[in-house]
Amino acid sequence: MKPAFRKILPPALFLAAAGILCGIALFRGRPPQEPLSETGLQLDTAVTVTLYDSSDRSLLDRCMELCGGYEQLFSRTLPDSEISRLNRGEISSLSPGTCALLSEGLRYSALSDGAFDLTIGAVSALWDFSSGEGEVPDPAAIAAALPTVGWEKVEQNGDRISLPAGTQIDPGAIAKGYIADRLKEFLQENGVESAIIDLGGNVLCVGGKPDGTPFRIGIRRPFSDASDSMAVLEVVDRSVVTSGVYERCFEEDGVFYHHLLDPETGYPCDSGLLSVTILSDSSMEGDALSTACFVLGLEKGMELAVSAGVEAIFIDEEYGLHFTPGFSTPCTLSDETKN
Ligand code: ADP
Ligand code: MG
Repeated sequence: MKPAFRKILPPALFLAAAGILCGIALFRGRPPQEPLSETGLQLDTAVTVTLYDSSDRSLLDRCMELCGGYEQLFSRTLPDSEISRLNRGEISSLSPGTCALLSEGLRYSALSDGAFDLTIGAVSALWDFSSGEGEVPDPAAIAAALPTVGWEKVEQNGDRISLPAGTQIDPGAIAKGYIADRLKEFLQENGVESAIIDLGGNVLCVGGKPDGTPFRIGIRRPFSDASDSMAVLEVVDRSVVTSGVYERCFEEDGVFYHHLLDPETGYPCDSGLLSVTILSDSSMEGDALSTACFVLGLEKGMELAVSAGVEAIFIDEEYGLHFTPGFSTPCTLSDETKN
């Protein structure tokens, strides 16, 4: 080694090492990055995706595009969606996404013994719970639509499906969960490890917070503001889905009508409950089961939740909370709930 190098090398090595150590120190002490969030009106509801460990805004745009794409498949209000065309008898073979959604929908219809019924479409189309101008439908129209409801009459063979005349598919009680699961897959494929996907209250967590602590997800007090929680759950990497009577409803002649229908009667289900929340790995499972357990009521709904291996919180009409046995997700009750 030349003498000049011999003189320069030790200080150079020292500076390089110091630089690396400073870099590590700066990196470790770096303030946590601000969450990156986008909200859009999609799927008839407010969709919010929040990334906690990425500053790549294009991922959020792609999530909104994915929602838009699924809306083109699953919507019942868009006349050219795949479901609308299927319901009009114009097609019998399905794209892979719709095929997967419907076979899962039929599976949960069977599992819940028809409390959740994917073929409730002709009945649910008679009700308007969204516009704020809903009225009770003509009882004769409900009576005429009821015989078209019956998941067991649907024949599905691979990507081909055949519906009896008049039978209409309503994927509304399962689609948001299915889409949330697809968004989570997309984010994870793109390296995201900490995010919240919120499709109108269907919440799906990707991991926990970047500092390793769980996300805190509130269970809304029925009929109160979304910020008024009866309990707060600590959730890592799971789905929290609620079906509640207060979501879409109206009052007529002093009677309260809500959007969770009894497939036996065609009218809002009087199950003695205000809401059911399901905690599960799959958001589609949570979506299907929250509707099914609500319609089944406390006793049978609890049995279904237990047999499906999910955790659930039922809120009864007296605002009493009922947890599945052995409920182990950390949960803090609000002071009002405790009293
Ligand atoms: P939300 O859409 O408010 O999250 P749900 O997931 O429980 O609530 O889905 C309710 C929607 O599902 C209704 O708006 C209706 O379209 C449909 N639906 C209502 N009752 C049933 C039922 N018993 N089985 C299957 N779908 C139902
Ligand atoms: Mg549902």
